Amino acid sequence: MIPICQHCHTGKVNRPRQLCWNCYYSPGVRDCYPSTSKYARRGVGNFNGNAPVACEPTTAAPGTPEKMEIMAERARMRQRLWHPFDAEFAGDPKPLTVLEDSSRLKKVA
Ligand SMILES: [Zn+2]
Repeated sequence: MIPICQHCHTGKVNRPRQLCWNCYYSPGVRDCYPSTSKYARRGVGNFNGNAPVACEPTTAAPGTPEKMEIMAERARMRQRLWHPFDAEFAGDPKPLTVLEDSSRLKKVA
């Protein structure tokens, strides 16, 4: 069975992403279908260099879903994944000292 283009449903698949030649090279069509290659870039990407530190530390303990969400958000914002004052265990008061200081600074400014 010859696979049929997933966009026009008439052409024969002969380009990546299960597309026919015409659809693959039509502007905008290719972007509608994610790459199926195992070598494709996915996610927020990786980059070299020194990323800026996140604005605020997190009170979420390492390994928790909350911390994973914070780290994903930092990656999306192209920030460093770890803040020096992030909590190192559940209930760690270390991030609170920075958070209280920054809230005090906001009140002064
Ligand atoms: Zn097509």
